[in-house]
Amino acid sequence: MDYYAGVDLGATNVRAVVAEDDGTRIGVSRRSTPRGPTGIDVTEGVLRTLREACGDAGIEPGAIVAAGIGSIGPFDLVEGAVIDPANLPDSIDRIPLTGPIEKLIDSDDVYLHNDTTAGVIGERFHAERNPDDMVYITISSGIGAGVCCDGEIVSGWDGNAGEVGHCIVDPTGRLTCGCGHDGHWEAYCSGNAIPNYARYLAEDDPTTSTDLPLEGPDFTAKDVFELAGEDELADYVIDQLAHWNAIGVTNVVHSFAPIVISFGGAVALHNEELVVDPIRERIEEMVMSNVPEIRVTDQGDDVVLEGALASALTGGTGDRQRIHD
Ligand SMILES: [Zn+2]
Repeated sequence: MDYYAGVDLGATNVRAVVAEDDGTRIGVSRRSTPRGPTGIDVTEGVLRTLREACGDAGIEPGAIVAAGIGSIGPFDLVEGAVIDPANLPDSIDRIPLTGPIEKLIDSDDVYLHNDTTAGVIGERFHAERNPDDMVYITISSGIGAGVCCDGEIVSGWDGNAGEVGHCIVDPTGRLTCGCGHDGHWEAYCSGNAIPNYARYLAEDDPTTSTDLPLEGPDFTAKDVFELAGEDELADYVIDQLAHWNAIGVTNVVHSFAPIVISFGGAVALHNEELVVDPIRERIEEMVMSNVPEIRVTDQGDDVVLEGALASALTGGTGDRQRIHD
């Protein structure tokens, strides 16, 4: 029997899954992502998690014929490494992944993707409708897209295609993004940005009433969505998020002509009515070409892990016709 593995390397957790050749999961493992001190410590954490998933499955790592990785970026794809990840300590400058995993499983079939690209691979593999033209968009602590266009997974030479959260949606650049530039989609609508954006809107129009704990240390995006329909400022923030999200998604539609756009990430998954439904309504009026089906992933929090496994099963493509390719 041949076995396949998927790895999801996030800033918080690293997860691994081992499956049989029909995709049936037989082993899993999850650990906290090591906070360094060096990138090698993170690499070792990934290898340990994968070995544990093999142990859970009762197989040796050498029995795995192919592995996929969905990871935080940015990347040096030629080196098969993550370079200067934004959400890990500064002492972590380089996390080698492809080489060490190839060595562990004794196979050259190791596919490294950014997490949103793994997302589109997983969606393509599992979705009821799996056209050759689809986009996966995550709205979580950040915003990003994985793109499949003309049946090709678009990764870019360095693995960093699809960073749509850093597209400029507000040319007046009122808010600064975590990346340091102004006016980016992610600076308004990501889970990390929403509290800051709510404070900005409150200052902009102090007559808006609110019970939101704007200056409290624990104020999060969740507070905004919980007060929907009950709080003037919360409703205004949610309406403005819909405005920027619709602009961002319209830009994605005009760039890649997807037939399906699938949403994931905590902000979209937990607030489909308040975040995804308004996008669906608004882009009808904003898109000049074919309007794609807008859906939410059925994979929930597993979308990156499932995508990594689907990549291993399909030679890095998510195309079900290329299983064990
Ligand atoms: Zn940015």
